[in-house]
Amino acid sequence: MTDASSSGTPGPADFPVVGVVGGGQLARMMQQPAIALGVRLRLLADSRSDSAAQVISDVVVGDYRDFETLRTFAQGCDVVTFDHEHVPTEHLRELAGAGVLVRPGPSALVFAQDKSLMRERLSELGAPLPRWSPVTSVADVLAFAEATPFPLVLKATRGGYDGKGVWVVRNEHEAAEVLSHDQVPGFIVEELVDYARELSAMVARSPSGQAVAYPVVETVQRDGICHEVYAPAPGIDEDHAVRAQQVALQIAGELDVVGMMAVELFDTPDGVLVNELAMRPHNSGHWGIDGAVTSQFENHLRAVLDLPLGDPSASAPLTVMVNLLGGDLDDLYPAYLHCMARDPALKFHMYGKVVKPGRKVGHVTATGTDLDDLLERIRHAIAYLRGDIDE
Ligand code: ADP
Repeated sequence: MTDASSSGTPGPADFPVVGVVGGGQLARMMQQPAIALGVRLRLLADSRSDSAAQVISDVVVGDYRDFETLRTFAQGCDVVTFDHEHVPTEHLRELAGAGVLVRPGPSALVFAQDKSLMRERLSELGAPLPRWSPVTSVADVLAFAEATPFPLVLKATRGGYDGKGVWVVRNEHEAAEVLSHDQVPGFIVEELVDYARELSAMVARSPSGQAVAYPVVETVQRDGICHEVYAPAPGIDEDHAVRAQQVALQIAGELDVVGMMAVELFDTPDGVLVNELAMRPHNSGHWGIDGAVTSQFENHLRAVLDLPLGDPSASAPLTVMVNLLGGDLDDLYPAYLHCMARDPALKFHMYGKVVKPGRKVGHVTATGTDLDDLLERIRHAIAYLRGDIDE
């Protein structure tokens, strides 16, 4: 266990220090359960003004792409985990080699970093996937198109998020244009799935192998960005929900994932297909702060510390979460007066971020029984906070 005085983190020395790489809202939302658990967080952030750096006292400012920075940061941490998946795999391997507990470990995390490796490994595991292939040239795309006609989806294997790095291409020329992006390290092509809706199955897994599955949720995405989450997915076919949870638990076990993992899926009439993995708390799990017995942020901390996991069950029949994406209003606080007076049951979560158009700056949650009612109430607050409406 770390000596608290040497880590620079005050507090009882028998409670562990969890290092979190990345200062975004996911790290910020880990601080709340950390307070309750008495666990101390140490943050590696790009700047003191980062979302999480505003609420965590032990902050190292530095570049996560620099190995020496990571190594120094890890000294004094009992375990190191992540707010994002962009730390170079080779750095993580070196850290783990130097005896740092990195959770999830690099050999698991690489499957959340590289879509081609992920699809290859999941194919081996027999997970249900869209038809796909790695591609390096237009000829490869055309060969794929013989069995799976245009339109197709091209994806950057690494570095994409919120739909950046995903292109729908209708023909050879569009494919050639996308493949000419020379900053992209590699591409895969896949079928354009005609799905009924998008789902997310989240699981927490600890190093001892304990795993728990959250209720499967529906996610509503626009332009590759998550806008709304309904938990549990309303009216979902029970077999599809169970299959999604089984697939997520299987992937977590086989890839030796530690911490939270989100499996993003497409729900189709023939069953669920895995789209993407995230090995960290995920936007599709924010609902659980207000709507689950144990939030994803608490279970992430429990998991990386190899503590028994908390109950992932929903604590309300239905929870709806809507993201607040930056709109016309720069100053969000004055809107609280109206929103809170209109609906005292809404829960507001702000990330301390400067408002920029389209940027995720917070979310609003409510629990109840009626989807339309919850949506009307939350969407009203979101529209007011954005400045889209003024009454
Ligand atoms: P990112 O890693 O950037 O979030 P994803 O692979 O999750 O990218 O894709 C972003 C969004 O693009 C998905 O949520 C979905 O709406 C859409 N999408 C991705 N792949 C496909 C596909 N094969 N068919 C149809 N839509 C897709």
